[in-house]
Amino acid sequence: MSFYVLKRNVPIEESYDVVVAGGGPAGAAAAVCAARSGAKTLLIEATGCLGGMGTSGLVTAFDPMANGVEAMVGGFMREVVEELYERKFLGSKVTPEQWRKHFLAWIPFNVEGYKLILDEKMTAAGVEVRFFTRVIDAEADASDKRVKGIVIHNIEGYSFIAAKAFIDCTGDAVLADLCGADCWEAGRDTPRIMPATLPSLFAGIDWERVRRYWKEEGHEQGNGVIRKGIADGMFVQPDPFLVGMSQIGPTVGYLNGGHLFNLNALRCSELSRNVMLGRRIAQDYLAFYRKYIPGYEKMEHVTTASLIGVRESRRIKGEYVLNIDDYMARREFPDQIGIFNKFVDIHPYDTSEEEYQRFMKEKDQQLRMNVGESFGIPYGILVPKGWQNLWVAGRCASSDVRVHGSIRVQPACAMMGQAAGTAAAQSIRLKQSACELDTAELVTTLRKDNALLPQKEISSEMTRGSAT
Ligand SMILES: Cc1cc2nc3c(=O)[nH]c(=O)nc-3n(C[C@H](O)[C@H](O)[C@H](O)COP(=O)(O)OP(=O)(O)OC[C@H]3O[C@@H](n4cnc5c(N)ncnc54)[C@H](O)[C@@H]3O)c2cc1C
Repeated sequence: MSFYVLKRNVPIEESYDVVVAGGGPAGAAAAVCAARSGAKTLLIEATGCLGGMGTSGLVTAFDPMANGVEAMVGGFMREVVEELYERKFLGSKVTPEQWRKHFLAWIPFNVEGYKLILDEKMTAAGVEVRFFTRVIDAEADASDKRVKGIVIHNIEGYSFIAAKAFIDCTGDAVLADLCGADCWEAGRDTPRIMPATLPSLFAGIDWERVRRYWKEEGHEQGNGVIRKGIADGMFVQPDPFLVGMSQIGPTVGYLNGGHLFNLNALRCSELSRNVMLGRRIAQDYLAFYRKYIPGYEKMEHVTTASLIGVRESRRIKGEYVLNIDDYMARREFPDQIGIFNKFVDIHPYDTSEEEYQRFMKEKDQQLRMNVGESFGIPYGILVPKGWQNLWVAGRCASSDVRVHGSIRVQPACAMMGQAAGTAAAQSIRLKQSACELDTAELVTTLRKDNALLPQKEISSEMTRGSAT
């Protein structure tokens, strides 16, 4: 490859205490919690709204937040859910028991309500938000492992922003990679890439009839109707795993369907080709649901998502790598910043029957927590190994592929974001670097801020290790 050397003067802006890249569930939590802790905080978001995959990606349900006995997810995430509920932005059948107690209870929400509440929380906390702005470069000292500043781009052009602390919540570890932090890349460092999906919204659904059908004929994921549709030639891609359609309004549904297999989300050409394929597949699902399932006959396709639903792309190599042994042992960490219990959800890697059976087995038997069980998410998975003022929260935090299949969902990402934002503010206040942070102090602050952290022992030293 040849290179063109671009020379330009980039304006230097005023500096901040904390800059957060990406405003999904992790970034929104990180920015608000940093600002509430007294840090002058800037949030950079590439799209025009907060919420990430939950809004621009149309993933309109939060994964379970309780373990069947008690709530696991508190803090900022719980605050958002409670406000969505009070303002009638959750599904009409949702009750508080769903996030306080129930096992495997997804929480559907209204996308516009979620956007609005996140906007309001940013304003109330004093976070400066820049939409339609992308982090495109970083100035970092790789030997000292310290980030000096970032380059952003928006309609006003380029600018350079310095800060004391940086939090990467881009989902793809974009900032960490630009800084030169070590990362795993799906496809390069793993034999296979978990498929992506382009979700859609549909309207005009008669949910009572749909529910009656599934009750009588069997649940979507175990139902043979999708195989009938495939046999009848309804799909350009014969995928036997139908994740399904969820109710999110009186007549509205969100389709988590149409896998985009082996998509390398770090390649623009693949993103472009697959978003087109996703739109094509959405039309197949529209025709399929209308034809085969009572209640969907008059369904209309409202829109596909403006972000591709990427499940796996880049993850940092952190001070700790959360791994499947920790998961199976239901390990508790002194420095855990959250607890969680989602099953290991690694979607089929292709359309074969063997892959479908592997997926169903993992999900239903081995890699699943029981009622009342959980595992800890330690602080060290948020810190790229050895870095002084860089944190990474959300889908691109440090774990092995299987645990990633559990913690990549919105409530877990929000807990990581809250911890990263709080830690960044603490590091500035107490002059502690990210990789030497007093984690007893962090856990104490998070508990005061309503995080649910039941560990009996806490420790000033983070748990370290990179077994995988
Ligand atoms: C199809 C699908 C279905 C899912 N279903 C569920 C579900 O039912 N429940 C659930 O809880 N979770 C679900 N998930 C998982 C979940 O939605 C995501 O993993 C989660 O949102 C990740 O959060 P995040 O904050 O790390 O990143 P994201 O939500 O991806 O947010 C990242 C944000 O960063 C911005 N960004 C990226 N690069 C830059 C840049 N260079 N500069 C500025 N901004 C940038 C993006 O625009 C985006 O807003 C699903 C995921 C997929 C793909």
